[in-house]
Amino acid sequence: MLQDAGQKKFGATVCDVCGMVYTHADPIDETTHAKFHANLLNTLKFPGWKKERIVEEFIEDGSKIVMVLNDDPKYATRKISEINKIMGQELGFPDINLSFTSNYKGFLYISEDKNIEGCCIAESIQEGYRVIADPTSKSPSKNSETQQRPWYCDTEPERASIGISKIWVYKQSRQKGIASRLLDTIRTCFHYGGVVERNELAFSDPTPDGKKFATKYTGAPSFLVYRYIR
Ligand SMILES: [Zn+2]
Repeated sequence: MLQDAGQKKFGATVCDVCGMVYTHADPIDETTHAKFHANLLNTLKFPGWKKERIVEEFIEDGSKIVMVLNDDPKYATRKISEINKIMGQELGFPDINLSFTSNYKGFLYISEDKNIEGCCIAESIQEGYRVIADPTSKSPSKNSETQQRPWYCDTEPERASIGISKIWVYKQSRQKGIASRLLDTIRTCFHYGGVVERNELAFSDPTPDGKKFATKYTGAPSFLVYRYIR
């Protein structure tokens, strides 16, 4: 979940780095936070691997994207599982455990100073459903409890090529175009022999922020979605 002003309660602090809400001067809270904070930073560290499948490098800022497959060494798939947990916590997905089958490919965005700043888990799919804009919707408020999900979609499937299961960018690295870089790279290297067009990507059950991003990235509010619970 994204932090917003509403979650900053009286007497509580939101850590800028790890996003945890805790109370200053409460020893138990401070300890819990210190542990969580250290764990997060440790998980985001990318030590460098003997075999790295580098699929893209950005010379301008020294960052790179590494692809992980399900039959890669344990240290690589474990990293994906660990990052998946962080993504689950932040994006509000209940399924903490990832079934990283051969259908999936994991992509890590790594900064020049060897920190993981973003991650995308993508899968091969055949079809998606087109989002239809709801003509009656008046820009729903973010905190509205009645809001179910930020989109409606068509019931007829359409051809899709890559499913974006989860995409996440570290809190302090947002607004730098990392999510777009991840998707640009995935479109190029996911399938052998051809770049996938932006409109052949489908997004799994996007959050309101995910919807905004998908609309911007695909250039249309009527992007494709897949695997959602009605
Ligand atoms: Zn913290």
